[in-house]
Amino acid sequence: MPELPDVEIARRRLERSLAGATIRAASCNDRWLLRPRSPAHFSRALAGRTVRSVARRGKWLRLLLDDGTRIFSHLGMTGEWLNADDARSEARSERARLDVARDKHGASSVRYLDSRRFGRLVVSERDITEWTELGPDPLADGIDVSRFAAALQRRRGAIKAVLMDQTVLAGIGNIIATEALWRARMDPRTPSNRVDGAGAARLARALKAEILHELRMRTRSDDYRQNVFSVYGRAGEACKRCGTTIQRTVIAGRTTAFCPRCQVRSMKALHRRRPSSR
Ligand SMILES: [Zn+2]
Repeated sequence: MPELPDVEIARRRLERSLAGATIRAASCNDRWLLRPRSPAHFSRALAGRTVRSVARRGKWLRLLLDDGTRIFSHLGMTGEWLNADDARSEARSERARLDVARDKHGASSVRYLDSRRFGRLVVSERDITEWTELGPDPLADGIDVSRFAAALQRRRGAIKAVLMDQTVLAGIGNIIATEALWRARMDPRTPSNRVDGAGAARLARALKAEILHELRMRTRSDDYRQNVFSVYGRAGEACKRCGTTIQRTVIAGRTTAFCPRCQVRSMKALHRRRPSSR
């Protein structure tokens, strides 16, 4: 499932192809993805408009057009934006297409593919609540540690589940949460309201480091999932830091891997240890 780094890469690709470009024609063959609007509305609202900017908050993308119309895109599980000439594009799962023209670059197209159709493509004259209700984006907005600490104090659930609450921070999914908690040496089952200010600061640093690490790995190769994770998907293997066997638990319905030795619940024990240099 796409997480913040995947969506950021999609944003950069769309920005390169679309910023400043004029949409000559737009089509979408999937009423479900467009709900509550229709394919006819999609074509009518977009044709002739120029794309001003491509923004991202959490796992949502927002294309802003010159008349104020916005296209919100959520990739769901299998959504992907590709240039029309991309070798990976398969016509079968193509759901939408934008034919564009740009001064120096001539004409081109971008396509939206989504085989499982859990994505969304919402055309609106204003920002939608799915966008406005999101918490700060760790990459685009940074993490204000005192606000982050206060948000953690207000919640009682396991810290892992709270990190994945999109109103606390936008864009954190299972992988980033699992890896950042290992970096911060914090047990994923720690009650959120027991994380103190220093713990929140430590976690904020770990989240930012993990996001930048994953972005770097994804831009380097397509098979980045090989060997880039420290605990995610590694239950039963030895912890890279202390050698203890990585364990698995389920938090808020999601499988979570963690090291039972070097990820601790007690803030005192946590602050006695130095943060991971990785
Ligand atoms: Zn360990």
